[in-house]
Amino acid sequence: MPPLVFVVDGDTRTPILLKGTQPLTGAKFDVRAAAEGVAAFRFVEQNKPDLIVLSAELPGKLSWQEMVRGFRKAGVRAPVILVTQNKDLATGEALDLGVRDVLHKPLTGPVLRESLRSALADVQYRKIVPPASPAPKEVRRGMPAGLSEVDVLYAIGKSVTSLTDLEEILHRVVEAAVFLTSAEQGFLMLLDEESQELILRAAKNISDQVGRTLRLRTSDGIAGQVVKTGKPILLGGEQQTKIKTSFLVRSALYVPLKTTGRVIGVLSVDNQRSARAFTERNQRFLSAAADYAAIAIENSRLLQGQRDRAAALEIAYRELEETDALKTHMIQNLSHELRTPLVFIKGYVDMLETGALMDVPAEVRDGLKTVQRRINDLVKIVENTVALSQPARETIVTEDVVLGELIQAAVDKRMADAEKAGIVMVVDLPPTPIHVLADQRQAGQVLGNLLDNAVKFSPNGGLITVAAQALDRQLAEVQVSDSGVGIPADKVDKVFERFFQVDGSATRRYGGTGLGLAAAREIIQAHGGDLSVVSKPGRGSVFRFTLYLADAAPKISAFQTA
Ligand code: ADP
Repeated sequence: MPPLVFVVDGDTRTPILLKGTQPLTGAKFDVRAAAEGVAAFRFVEQNKPDLIVLSAELPGKLSWQEMVRGFRKAGVRAPVILVTQNKDLATGEALDLGVRDVLHKPLTGPVLRESLRSALADVQYRKIVPPASPAPKEVRRGMPAGLSEVDVLYAIGKSVTSLTDLEEILHRVVEAAVFLTSAEQGFLMLLDEESQELILRAAKNISDQVGRTLRLRTSDGIAGQVVKTGKPILLGGEQQTKIKTSFLVRSALYVPLKTTGRVIGVLSVDNQRSARAFTERNQRFLSAAADYAAIAIENSRLLQGQRDRAAALEIAYRELEETDALKTHMIQNLSHELRTPLVFIKGYVDMLETGALMDVPAEVRDGLKTVQRRINDLVKIVENTVALSQPARETIVTEDVVLGELIQAAVDKRMADAEKAGIVMVVDLPPTPIHVLADQRQAGQVLGNLLDNAVKFSPNGGLITVAAQALDRQLAEVQVSDSGVGIPADKVDKVFERFFQVDGSATRRYGGTGLGLAAAREIIQAHGGDLSVVSKPGRGSVFRFTLYLADAAPKISAFQTA
């Protein structure tokens, strides 16, 4: 809920002007008004406003002094700003009665804005001060009843941990410093490491002209001395002291802002008109407030550092994403471009080798067989790369495939090589053909990869069995078993990762790229099935994959559109 500002003034222009000032203060507040004292008391009792703007020239019997005393007696803690047409109104008396500020009519935007901004900041303090805090014994000049130094420090501490806006925190620290030391003005300067200058970061009641030019070298001035020594300076007495040109004070208090033993700035309050000196107690309070400000600055620097790092990471991540997309695009293009000429060469060599094109002498045919094998290796690498360079889900075109035929074709292709390696290949199928819904070419690629591995990793001959069966009314399962070298238990889970090879060394015994199983799993998963392995080192491996039966159509459309 925005703070409630209550205007007690017979002049109706005051609340209107106040409302108009709202955008200038940068704070939201509600404005309500009463024209005279009795109605005002009633309103205050019922609505507990956060800030009261009181006219010193009220119609009716009640004087402004009676109003202020009445408010305090009724336990109203809201600060009071007194507005008056009387040039000679005793400001001292008003401040002694606990009035926060005295403004002279005609009221102007800038004056109202400053006064409201600072009063509303106090209202914020009050809002976060716990209600149980003890009432202060003494009422200091200019400090409304019910707000002690502890309260204010507590409130600053809260804002340091809850506010992220450093400017706002520093502003509050200066506000509080001026408020509680009853100083005429105050400011907070931070050290610029590079230029070794103190630069004004927050100020209260310092004229715009001084504020704009307040940049001090640390080699001179009192603030500079505080930075150099790291010790507070208390100036007092009747004599005016010159601080920078055109900035004369009669009493002043400077405390350093320190983090990890380093002075990073100065917090200061001073009096230009009043000769009232600051006290030890003021110094203690100011030092505590300065500590809070230093913590806030350190927090803000850390936060900024974190934000910078996060932004840098974000950029690096975007760049990586772009590079990754570029790489994928390049691999896709390259593998597609390679596939076309390879398929052409393969077709040509096949025709030559089978004699379909012309008669070829036996010794040339042997050479062609070797070329054929190498081309097949190349085609396989390209096919696996294509399968992994874009989601298989996007490329599969399913149809009704007779599983037994697919298996037989894949086995037949490798039969000669298997025989040469002393391997027996057995196909074990049920009597009734199993129909699955699959992309013929890609499912063939999966079987090819598994069979090629089974042959490759059975160096001492042995038995390879390819079996198929319907598991239930939904799924069919294909098993490719071998009696080869097997896979160590700690590597079994990794064989489906891209580029993984149990022996990936340069001197490895078995050739390959580590892409076959990754591509196979990608294809099977795109079909809605799964590919797994059970293996025993030295005994052999069993790879199993599932595919949906062709008449389990509802399931198929579910995974295809997923
Ligand atoms: P590669 O091109 O190396 O064969 P794959 O992805 O097909 O790539 O296989 C990855 C690795 O898994 C192989 O290098 C091998 O270490 C292991 N592997 C695959 N199939 C078998 C198998 N039937 N028997 C033993 N190890 C296998």
